[in-house]
Order: sequence, then C-alpha cells, then structure tokens
Amino acid sequence: MTAYPTVQMLINGEWTTAGEAGTMEVVNPATGAVIGHCPKASKAQLDAALKAADDAFAGWSRTSGPDRHTILRRAADLLRERALDIAAVVTAEMGKPRAQAIGEITGSADVIDFLAEEAKRRGGRLIPTRGTQLIAQMVTHEPIGPAVLLTPWNFPINLPAKKIAGALAAGCTAILKPAENTPASAQLLVACFVDAGVPKGVLNLVHGDPGPIAEHLIAAPVTRKVSFTGSTAVGKHLGALAASHMKRFTPELGGHAPVIVSKNADVERAVALCAATKFRNAGQVCVSPTRFLVAKEIYDRFVADFAAMAAKLKVGDPGADESVDMGPLAHARRISAMVQVVADAQGGRGEVVAGGAAIAGPGFFFQPTVIANPAPDSRFMTEEPFGPVAGIVPFDHLDEAISIANGLRYGLAAYAFSADLDEAHHLGRSLRAGMVGINQLIVSSPETPFGGIGDSGFGSEGGEEGYLAFTDTKLVMLAKARG
Ligand code: NAD
Repeated sequence: MTAYPTVQMLINGEWTTAGEAGTMEVVNPATGAVIGHCPKASKAQLDAALKAADDAFAGWSRTSGPDRHTILRRAADLLRERALDIAAVVTAEMGKPRAQAIGEITGSADVIDFLAEEAKRRGGRLIPTRGTQLIAQMVTHEPIGPAVLLTPWNFPINLPAKKIAGALAAGCTAILKPAENTPASAQLLVACFVDAGVPKGVLNLVHGDPGPIAEHLIAAPVTRKVSFTGSTAVGKHLGALAASHMKRFTPELGGHAPVIVSKNADVERAVALCAATKFRNAGQVCVSPTRFLVAKEIYDRFVADFAAMAAKLKVGDPGADESVDMGPLAHARRISAMVQVVADAQGGRGEVVAGGAAIAGPGFFFQPTVIANPAPDSRFMTEEPFGPVAGIVPFDHLDEAISIANGLRYGLAAYAFSADLDEAHHLGRSLRAGMVGINQLIVSSPETPFGGIGDSGFGSEGGEEGYLAFTDTKLVMLAKARG
C-alpha cells in the first residue's frame, strides 16, 4: 500500500510533527499493528490554533463568495486526484474496504463542490416593508466566526469534508479535531484545502485526547460555533458545555434506524438491499438500517434470505485483499460491545441465525450477525449497536411496526419498503426521524440536509443547511434619512 504518512498538525499555516503533549499510537484495526504515531497538541498549541483562526477570520470572512468558491472547488478537484492514495490510508486506519473508501472520498469532493457553489449563489432576502418611512428590510447570512469541528472515525473524510466546506464556504475559519484513530486521513483532506490556496490560519488541524481538547476549544472565547459528530452521550456532554458558554452547537449523534418491510413490498429486492447496506462499513454507520420490522406473511423468507446473505459475506483485511466485503471494526472496544449485544439476545431472548461471534485475531473482526425476534427489552432493541448486527422482528399490523419504529429516543434515519403508494406515503409521514428512505436505503446526497431529532441531535449539515449552519441571520432595516 501507499506508505503511511508522518502524522502532522496544521497550526497557523505551518505543518508540525511536534506534539507538545506527547504522541499516541495509530493502529491498523485489521492487523493490530502500530502503523504510525500521532502528535498530541498541548494547551499552548491549541491556543495558537485558536489565535490563528481568530486572526484569519477578518480576512476570510471578507473574501468574496466567488473567490471562496474558486478555492474550495480546487480543493475538491485535488481530493479527486488524490483519491486512490487517500483511500489506502483510510483503509489502513479504520478498516473500510477500498471501494467504499474511494466512494466516500469522491462523494466528499461532490459535497465540497456543492457547498462551494453555495458561497457563490447564496443571498439573503428582502422583506416588504410596512408604512412609508422604511425603504428596505434586508436579511443576510453572516459567517458566525471561528468554528470547532469534532469528527469521528467511521467516515474520516466525508464528515470533516462536510464540516470544513460548510464553514469555509460561509466565511468562517475552523479548527478540526479528528478522531484519534484516523488522524492521517484528516491530514490528507486538510492538505487538499491548503494546496488549493486556503490562506494560513483559516483551517487548522490538531490531534490528541478528545475530551480535554474539546473542552478547551469550546470554552475559548474565540470559538463561536461547535459542530460535533459522535455518540449521544458525548454529544449531550459537549452540548451542555457549549450552552454554558452560549456557543452555537450542531450535534449529529447516534441512531438505531428501523426498517419497516410491509407485506406489499418487493421482498426479494428489499432483502437484498437491506443485507448489503446493513454490513457496509461493518455496520459502523449512524444511519445504518438495523431494526428490521417485517410483516408476518413474509417474515420467514426475509429472515432466511437475510441470514444466508450475511453468512456469504467475505470478511477479512481489506488492505491485503480488495475483494473482501467487510473489514474489521475500528477498535477492540467495538468487539466487546458486539459480544455483549449478542450475549443479551441468547436464552430465549432472540435467536442468532447468522454469525454471532468475534473472529480470532489479529485485528478486530466480528461475524456479520443476524438475530431473529430479539426481545423488546433486549439491548439490541434498545441500544444502538453500531456494528455488524441486525435484528428482525415480525409484526401483524403496520401501526404496530410504526409504534416499535418510533419507540426509541433516537430519530436519525428510518426506512420503509412498500409497493402500495398510499401505504408508502403513510409510512413516510408516520416515521419519526430526521431522514426517511422509502423503497431504498440512501438518505444523503451533497444537495440534501443531513441531521436527526431526539437523542440523535438537532440541526442539519449537508445541502444548503450545511452552509447556513455556519451563519448568523442578520436583519438590516433601512429607513429614509429624512422625514
Ligand atoms: P466514543 O464515544 O469513544 O468515540 C466516538 C467519537 O467521539 C470519537 O471520534 C472520539 O474522538 C469522540 N469523542 C469521544 N469522547 C469525546 C469527548 N469527551 N469530547 C469530544 N469528543 C469525544 O465511541 P466509539 O466506541 O469510538 O464509537 C462508538 C460510538 O460512537 C457509538 O455509540 C456511536 O453512536 C458513536 N459514533 C457515532 C458516529 C456518528 O456518525 N454519529 C460516528 C462514530 C461513532
């Protein structure tokens, strides 16, 4: 593979390998081998990044939208040009099969393109005035200020790309703190922006322990906006901190997406799509379809076909074999989480019909797993598994399925399959989630908003919302100078 790069931080336009708070190991989850070391930022280095973002804000926020657009489009082109090399690093750091890594990277370039266009085309609005004295009521979207971007490892290019492009397109400066286990992926992405001409200080990259770094950056007076993708528990903690400092906060958190399969669905197509999508990225996807609620009439066939497809998937080291369907989980703690979920579904509280066990090392592998009829109060049915485990539950009436689907506090994605038009509309309206997919399992594109409700967070990034998330709404009311 492409050699693993020396991991660096970017502070005020300077790349540095010097982590004043030490270093940490980067491990390939498919082999368990240490592939590199990542510098950890000290408080002084975080303060230098904050100062850089603050100093650069005046100039970048005044750079014209078309000029910001030109630079961001160039970054997207560089990302496409470098996709194959970057994909090798993504695979080595978090275990995604190569084809999925390349798809993530080229898709991220499309996201950057869309947000770059927003810099050029997004205006405000003029509101009709009352009376004769007022001339205009103008609403504009002003860049909010320096933004702190906290991203996880499961989409180590797409999530930082969406946040960086939204922030920079809107005229904000940013400090990116990526996940500890995917620092080089983030670095290669940031390098595309730098090489495209983003001025020094506009985009900064720091690494290290997520808790103390997030707390320092959020509390800093310079920071005006915090964008976080990760677990609900961490999101609530950071949200409370952001609120205590009156900082704008966009959390994109966990999910436990239900999929309702009606007896009127094209069952063959539904099961093939569901089984393929569930195990993408080893199930470590916040919108992963996971709780399958299937009409009694088609339940046995759905379970048998789903289990057979899961059992056929080729699991292995995607860095060594490009033909594997599913790689490792990102780290050892995800394996323990899967073991606990499966153990809880034993003993009459569900039936494991495919997989169910960790695969002996090296690396952090778990079998693609299917649990038939997990108990309503099982861990599987109540907690986000965030891994390669699916559960399938039979239902008698559609309303019962909708009630189970809406029964958790999560509300990120939800899906339904039905070839009956009225039923499909009813399902689309009834499912309580930020994003609903009907007769397909894709709920994101560069043009569309992405976000959840309830314990899955609030606000959206992606689409025009991904630009507006980094702006303040401002009203200017202009009156005649003389009566
Ligand atoms: P984790 O909560 O330890 O880490 C998840 C991410 O949050 C990491 O990128 C980490 O850098 C960051 N993080 C952790 N503690 C933090 C803190 N105190 N302050 C700021 N950032 C912090 O969990 P994990 O075991 O690595 O991942 C599994 C869990 O994370 C799942 O429950 C899943 O919900 C969640 N997750 C969600 C997404 C998503 O796309 N919404 C992505 C990755 C992980």
